[in-house]
Amino acid sequence: ATPTALLVGTGRGAQLGILIKGPEVLESTRAIDTIVLDKTGTVTEGRMTLVEVHLADGQDRDEVLRLAGALEHASEHPIAQAVARGAAERVGDLPAPEDFANVEGLGVQGIVDGHAVLVGRPRLLEDWSQHLPAGLARALEQAQAAGRTAVAVGWDGQARAVLVVADVVKPTSAQAIADLRALGLTPVLLTGDNRAVAQAVAAQVGIDEVIADVLPAGKVDVVKRLQADGKTVAMVGDGVNDAAALAQADLGLAMGTGTDVAIEAADLTLVRGDLRVAADAIRLSRRTLRTIK
Ligand code: ADP
Ligand code: MG
Repeated sequence: ATPTALLVGTGRGAQLGILIKGPEVLESTRAIDTIVLDKTGTVTEGRMTLVEVHLADGQDRDEVLRLAGALEHASEHPIAQAVARGAAERVGDLPAPEDFANVEGLGVQGIVDGHAVLVGRPRLLEDWSQHLPAGLARALEQAQAAGRTAVAVGWDGQARAVLVVADVVKPTSAQAIADLRALGLTPVLLTGDNRAVAQAVAAQVGIDEVIADVLPAGKVDVVKRLQADGKTVAMVGDGVNDAAALAQADLGLAMGTGTDVAIEAADLTLVRGDLRVAADAIRLSRRTLRTIK
């Protein structure tokens, strides 16, 4: 491998909207046979809208939106931003939460208007003995079956509401998956979200293999397991929770629209966040390496 040919490859990469950490990165793409894709922010827009509010008996819609919205306003998660935006549209200014804390992979907690509020996966509420009444559990299941994301809201020892947010698949994702398959790669969808939502997204973009319900710390283990099975793995992600997996993968690709932590951990950055460019990157490096031989 002559350094000059590799550098030409990286220069062409910049034109395509691919930032490459160093020319040696291209070497590692040669044997890639599996590409693991984070769901939220990678295959989907990662920008959701609050579409439904389901209330437990006796709950006030504006109060639910005020408390949940205030808490989520302090979080950068795409679900949180959708809830905060949707809440602010309906109830106006939101108070600042106290003692705000992010519970990794589960949700958020904090004090709003003197109430100890939780927003997140039902598991987070259950950890505080807040169980969803049957009506809310049903609403949550129906939303998930429809490929939407539903989070629960509770405070002061009681589950109060289910909020449904919808993310959309990026218009370029299905084409990107087809391009990656044409290069001989097996796509795998990896997410902390639940299986029903993950399956619905996978079906829309043409992915058969889905690994769902994975906690942030587990994403890197999924990559390690694939590698232990003899796969050479590329990973595409955008979030803080993807960084370790991006670093572990044989080739890590970060969305340029994602977090700095992911970009730092990755070998390549897809500047515009267009997944089709992942296929361009792999095609480019294979071509560059062929030129060198
Ligand atoms: P992904 O792997 O899809 O990017 P995460 O690991 O970031 O997802 O989060 C997993 C799940 O935890 C989310 O689908 C959501 O149910 C819940 N969650 C995480 N953060 C929040 C938050 N700020 N508000 C509500 N729910 C959250
Ligand atoms: Mg993500």
